[in-house]
Amino acid sequence: PPRPRPRLDAYVTGVRDGDRAMLARAITLIESRQRRDRAAAAKLLQRLLPHTGGAYRIGLTGSPGAGKSTTIDQLGTNLTARGHRVAVLAVDPTSQRTGGSILGDKTRMARLAADDQAFIRPSPSAGTLGGVTRTTRETMLLCEAAGFDVIIVETVGVGQSEVAVANMVDFFLVLLLPGAGDDLQGLKKGVLELADMIAVNKADGDNVDRARRTANDYRNALQILTPPSPNWRAPVITISGLQNIGLDALWHQIESYHDTMTKSGEWQEKRREQAVAWMHDLIEARLRQALTDDPAIAEKLKGLEARVRAGELVPSLAAEEIASALGLSALATGTA
Ligand code: GDP
Repeated sequence: PPRPRPRLDAYVTGVRDGDRAMLARAITLIESRQRRDRAAAAKLLQRLLPHTGGAYRIGLTGSPGAGKSTTIDQLGTNLTARGHRVAVLAVDPTSQRTGGSILGDKTRMARLAADDQAFIRPSPSAGTLGGVTRTTRETMLLCEAAGFDVIIVETVGVGQSEVAVANMVDFFLVLLLPGAGDDLQGLKKGVLELADMIAVNKADGDNVDRARRTANDYRNALQILTPPSPNWRAPVITISGLQNIGLDALWHQIESYHDTMTKSGEWQEKRREQAVAWMHDLIEARLRQALTDDPAIAEKLKGLEARVRAGELVPSLAAEEIASALGLSALATGTA
């Protein structure tokens, strides 16, 4: 039987106290798609807002097998040993189709999962990329309010999810494998453009030279791209997540990025722009939802779709009919 939902104050206090059970319940509330829960979740976030923003928000992508979980497990363990509190979130919109989340799975990060200064949350399995993105962004805020000062958002290197993650973090890290340097690894140029740093992983044993050559190849590839900022050129480093090599240098780069971007004001500016863009995303999502929420409008939409498909109605007029059904004023076409 479902437990009664705690009062808003209990959520606020619990999250602020870093109470893991309450944090988990707050995340569940945020992931809920029920309208009543959505309203409560929005109120909760508004209450917690003054206590958010205090973390380094780091995105990490890489194809399956690149060593994401191994690296996060090790890096996260290094960081908690130095007094940081680390939350690991995941964005995997395919988890529903594949019947279970692979990213952010606790068994993939055994040490961190047992670390009481760390918190791991798998990707929400609720549907669309937009939905997963929303809940991950909001979960990030909850984790910050709960005192986590490093948040790592993991995503798999395919599709649109990288863009979504890059748009919610301060720093976007791309993990690559040695050897496949010459534009392989299914990496699109677009992903390199998102990178604030590239780390060639598995630079250990027989792989070291190959990893260095790969890093060089990517350094060259980045030369022809516009850097993420006039003040930051994405470094390319080699690491071994498994053997804990290069992870201090990796963290040092992130701190250096933070210092540089804070001084120039870009750190704060990026966050402000992300918040506004997020608001626009939510407005669009809300408008789309209005189309399906109201049965009369949903019905009308079906009818219009049929007429557009049959070539009887021009799409712009169909869109106008929906707009007016939603109560939006008619477009001044000037042809009346
Ligand atoms: P993910 O799918 O990106 O999360 O990759 P995993 O972290 O699960 O790693 C995939 C495989 O590569 C596992 O067998 C790891 O043990 C191995 N691996 C990960 N990092 C390293 C590394 O730095 N060096 C070596 N030699 N193997 C690694």
